Amino acid sequence: MPKITLIENRPGSDWTCREVLDSQAIDPTGKFRCGFCATTIRWIHVVEHDDYEREVQAGCCCAARLCYEYDAEAAEREVKNRMDRRARFMDVRRWKRSMPNPENVWRFVQTPNDGRVRVTVFLNAEGYAICIAGKTDGDRYFCPEK
Ligand SMILES: [Zn+2]
Repeated sequence: MPKITLIENRPGSDWTCREVLDSQAIDPTGKFRCGFCATTIRWIHVVEHDDYEREVQAGCCCAARLCYEYDAEAAEREVKNRMDRRARFMDVRRWKRSMPNPENVWRFVQTPNDGRVRVTVFLNAEGYAICIAGKTDGDRYFCPEK
């Protein structure tokens, strides 16, 4: 287990994790190191402390030890799952061209309550827009994108 190097005036406990970042998304060729033990890390836990002036990028082990009741592995898993869901949503094989207007694309998306909606991305005068239509009740919501 990596050894945490304590830096003068930097607290050794009670940190809070603000967010978890994917280092590969920031820089695929970059090497990120834990700000506490200098181990090379893939998932960056950005931690902060009331008594320390700046945030520190930490690895999973150090974040788990420094943050009170923080499940760093679960936080990483949540980020990975979110990225997987986003990649599946964006997968071009799942999108179909609209019959009336081939410039528009659509696909069905499973909702958390086991429903299904149809998401259509289309061009309008202001740019791209999204239409979400409930399959069963016909509700339609328009969310213009800027
Ligand atoms: Zn570390």
